[in-house]
Amino acid sequence: MTDRRPNLLFIMADDHAAHAISAYGSHLAKTPGLDRIAEGGMRFDNCFCVNSICTPSRAAILTGTYNHVNGVTGLDTPMDNRLTTFPKLLQAAGYQTAMVGKWHLGHGGIHDPSGFDYWDVLPDQGDYHDPELIRWKAGETDDPEGERRVVEGYVTDIITDLSLDWLAARDPNRPFLLKLHHKAPHRSWEPAPRHAHLYEDMEVPIPPTFDDDYSFRASAARNARMRIDRDLKLEDLKVPTPEGLTPAEEKRWKFQRYIKDYLRCVAAIDENVARVLDWLDDEGLADDTVVVYTSDQGFFLGDHGWYDKRFMYEESLRMPFLVRYPREVRDGSVCTDMALNVDVAPTLLDLADVAIPDEMQGVSLRPLLQEQTPPDWRTAMYYRYWMHEDPDHNVQAHYGIRTDRYKLIRYDGEGEGPEWELFDLVEDPFEVHSVYDDPAYATLVEQLTDRLWRMQAEVGDTP
Ligand code: CA
Repeated sequence: MTDRRPNLLFIMADDHAAHAISAYGSHLAKTPGLDRIAEGGMRFDNCFCVNSICTPSRAAILTGTYNHVNGVTGLDTPMDNRLTTFPKLLQAAGYQTAMVGKWHLGHGGIHDPSGFDYWDVLPDQGDYHDPELIRWKAGETDDPEGERRVVEGYVTDIITDLSLDWLAARDPNRPFLLKLHHKAPHRSWEPAPRHAHLYEDMEVPIPPTFDDDYSFRASAARNARMRIDRDLKLEDLKVPTPEGLTPAEEKRWKFQRYIKDYLRCVAAIDENVARVLDWLDDEGLADDTVVVYTSDQGFFLGDHGWYDKRFMYEESLRMPFLVRYPREVRDGSVCTDMALNVDVAPTLLDLADVAIPDEMQGVSLRPLLQEQTPPDWRTAMYYRYWMHEDPDHNVQAHYGIRTDRYKLIRYDGEGEGPEWELFDLVEDPFEVHSVYDDPAYATLVEQLTDRLWRMQAEVGDTP
């Protein structure tokens, strides 16, 4: 009897902002490979992470829970692999499961990947060129913590090669879950040699908030250390800054260096995603396979004069989220309902007809994929960022809610009580002018603050 449950191919990049994907209307990048997923499936325009930083978002995706529940609040809190995750449940339900690429949830003992028949992961951040990988395969690897070896080549190609090798050797009579996690385009943005000169002769347009002076907001934006003009290091830029430039020229020169390397890294992802999609086509598996493309969070691409993420501002909060599944999802469809990273686990379980445990806080997106949004679908989301003790970036801890139109953010403040921001995303889509103290918004501030406390109580968080 043939197993009709779908294969699940979950592709995730690291720090790939939606506004660097042409399916999202990017004016920066051409991504024909990724666009194939959008063209053959659904593009989610309002998919958000509940904490815009790598390790916490990965834990939220695996467990379907918020970070105050799964305990992964920052980069220094590795995940406990005894938590319930969707790969474990799929494995128990008969799926073949694999995890290849960037894990970034800790290593050794209770931090290694679990729920996978095979894992082959980069240690921590991993390297772009000739990376070391840690491999473990059920029935083959004696050491439970895996075997380390160096693999020659470019990391995005290698992760794809290893994934395709595992796919080719799988049991074709059972469905698979493959988590294919790219390291790129994470800092320090090192392209493949074949892309070293891509975009060389063009000028990448600067974003509208490039020269943001951080007035009219809480002090957090002003204090953050992720400015293109001041905080990029030589290893990010790779060559010394030319002499004799004005400050404005220097900032623009650094932006071109940064953004072109970022986009070159994206180009390798795009080619490699196309390779995997071609493989599915060649094997006749495209109809039977759910393909997801996403990133652990968004990224500032010169927006607000920044690189990096962390803030609850749109560019960093929004995740690209593309889903192709010809059996259930209409070609070229677009969803504007609010989806969250905590929804991934329940969604993939639902698509595999595996029961969703009560402890998961996210909700299955399956009705949205079928363009049948439930009438009581969420109209607001809760966000919390913890990592204020990171002097390299110096982003104050904050939490808040985003509705379809407004965003209310509360910063802890340093000894002087909290600071607040309110943005009207229709009037001020770039979030440069908080209206928190504007008397015209006083009633709204009251309502949204009340809603924030209620949402915080609903998800069980107690900052
Ligand atoms: Ca990341």
